[in-house]
Amino acid sequence: EAVLPLPPATRVFTISNQKGGVGKTTSAVNLAAALARSGAKVLVVDLDPQGNASTALGVDHRSDQQSVYEVLVADLPLSQVVRPSTEHERLDCVPATIHLAGAEIELVSLVAREQRLRRALDVHLAEMDEPYDYVFIDCPPSLGLLTINAFVAAREVLIPIQCEYYALEGLSQLLSNIELIEKHLNPDLRLSTILLTMYDSRTNLAQQVAQEVRDHFPKQTLDTIIPRSVRVSEAPSYGQSVISYDFGSTGSLSYREAAAEIAWRGASESKESN
Ligand code: ADP
Ligand code: MG
Repeated sequence: EAVLPLPPATRVFTISNQKGGVGKTTSAVNLAAALARSGAKVLVVDLDPQGNASTALGVDHRSDQQSVYEVLVADLPLSQVVRPSTEHERLDCVPATIHLAGAEIELVSLVAREQRLRRALDVHLAEMDEPYDYVFIDCPPSLGLLTINAFVAAREVLIPIQCEYYALEGLSQLLSNIELIEKHLNPDLRLSTILLTMYDSRTNLAQQVAQEVRDHFPKQTLDTIIPRSVRVSEAPSYGQSVISYDFGSTGSLSYREAAAEIAWRGASESKESN
């Protein structure tokens, strides 16, 4: 396994797109797995009531389990709900349960409702002997208070974009939300990364969409494109990333390459700012 540079401080990503089924969870799980295998210590925070990231990482998220829900609405320390993944010893997961669906409403009346994940994560990171190198927050497909909590807790936004006809539709709403968050709640937030996913090289349309995204976001769009691949979609039902499910597959290779790009880009940026 190639060793990748580690960031000098924890890089916290929120993986967002208000559309469902664009590869948010798949990207969170597989990038996290790839980075853990390359030597990084990684946490995935599952913020989607569906709990798909928890499932993919082999973490119990039945409704009787404590989860990020209790952290957000009942001030349970994050450390009490961090679980080891079955994927890799350096990859942990904070699970989501179905109770999280109610949190959108319950949060409304709470003090500092937008900052609750940020505070819990900051406390946990400060208490750790060896803090995480990467945290990936897997968002639900909406722009409600859960996603806002993720935007406030993160420094970087990663948007997965499916190479299909309506790919750019709705993106301007997402971008203006990020701007609003940056202005009012989290000045450190920036769109750092766009990942093109579910690419089918046989269609002209996919190529056009990919080019259009690159024209709009030349700096943020990773060179690596994730192809559409059956192996990628099969892996979660075995509680595995595509990397451990089928290491040599194109899906595995492309997620490992995307992870390497993320690591190297971070390394060159932190050099520049020194
Ligand atoms: P989201 O979290 O944005 O809703 P998912 O990551 O759950 O999206 O992906 C939606 C569906 O597409 C899932 O069934 C997933 O397995 C499948 N999928 C994701 N990426 C790929 C890919 N590169 N190739 C084939 N299927 C994929
Ligand atoms: Mg998802």
